[in-house]
Amino acid sequence: MRISSDLFSAFLKCSTKCWLRAAGEPASGDAYAEWVKSQKRSYHATEIERLLSEAPKDEVAVSPLPENLKAAQWRLAATLVARARMNTCILESEVHAVERVPTEGRARPPQFIPIRFIFTNKLSEDDKLLLAFDTFVLSEATGREISFGKIIHGDDHSTLRVKTAALSGEVRKYIERIAALLSSPTPPDLVLNRHCPECEFQTRCRRKAIEADDLSLLSGMSEKERRKLHSKGIFTVTQLSYTFRPRRRPKRMRDKREKYHHSLKALAVREKKIHIVGRPELKIDGIPVYLDVEGLPDRDFYYLIGGCIGSGDSAVHHSLWADTAADEGRIWREFLAILETLEKPVLIHYGSYETAFLNGWASATDNRRRALWQQKRSGLR
Ligand code: SF4
Repeated sequence: MRISSDLFSAFLKCSTKCWLRAAGEPASGDAYAEWVKSQKRSYHATEIERLLSEAPKDEVAVSPLPENLKAAQWRLAATLVARARMNTCILESEVHAVERVPTEGRARPPQFIPIRFIFTNKLSEDDKLLLAFDTFVLSEATGREISFGKIIHGDDHSTLRVKTAALSGEVRKYIERIAALLSSPTPPDLVLNRHCPECEFQTRCRRKAIEADDLSLLSGMSEKERRKLHSKGIFTVTQLSYTFRPRRRPKRMRDKREKYHHSLKALAVREKKIHIVGRPELKIDGIPVYLDVEGLPDRDFYYLIGGCIGSGDSAVHHSLWADTAADEGRIWREFLAILETLEKPVLIHYGSYETAFLNGWASATDNRRRALWQQKRSGLR
């Protein structure tokens, strides 16, 4: 059985994805998945080119043979395929780049440092685990201890040094779980999850989940809640929909928030209706400003502030666009200028993204004020 870095990365997201990739299932053609793939490819190519151009020509190697790593003379290798055996599995990792650092003293062998390129600005735990997998395979292939690796990522080509030795136990456990998964002739139980929108099998899995009326179609339900329902013999959204019972709330609970009922959502799906629990009262003491902010979380970049002031025919809409990060401050100031023209504006928004945006800019403004005040104070001294 062959476990590659491609299968390892798939397993970190979803066991079904790993199984389908290993079985050679064709991708069902998702535009976002294709975009991510092309971003990865182009970032990889650009970074390889950059590293190779910065190193002396006689010290680099491109795709060196993995058989003779111990006798290697290069200082930097691009695209190195490392192979190692663990129990009955062949582990294979296409390491993006490897640095070979000679150590002082003849007795000590040179050190290998694997490098992985990640196009995003923010890194996740999965990125570090992938680097740890590269390190694990390279270390097994060379028979040398490798304690750390590097991740080069984002627009600024930032480098993060990761202590991969601390993750090797976790990597070993994942490999064992992947081996158990791939030894089964049938795919694991399908569970839609947060990674689905960017997965190449999205269309296939969604179709199957709809056919099975699977509980994972209710996106807010946790693994634990789903297992609890399974233990009661409830496996489909329709079955769950019949379990909702409206209850009168005791007076003492009237001011408390109603708990979320998955069964009510299931009922709404079955009846194709909107159900509202209780009588929501919106006390707006001022002029309502409906706020919607769009951005790229990976880049901490907010490119649109959308606002709707008032309602009905008299509603006024504002769309403030930032083409680059440098424009963000401008749209924030424009937004504040609009709010200043209103008497008692009350911001209304859905979700926590807008809260994060407001908190971020409020603290940035505070920091700026603080910096200005400090500048002023130091000028007075
Ligand atoms: S679409 Fe979702 S459930 Fe299907 S393989 Fe991808 S991540 Fe897993």
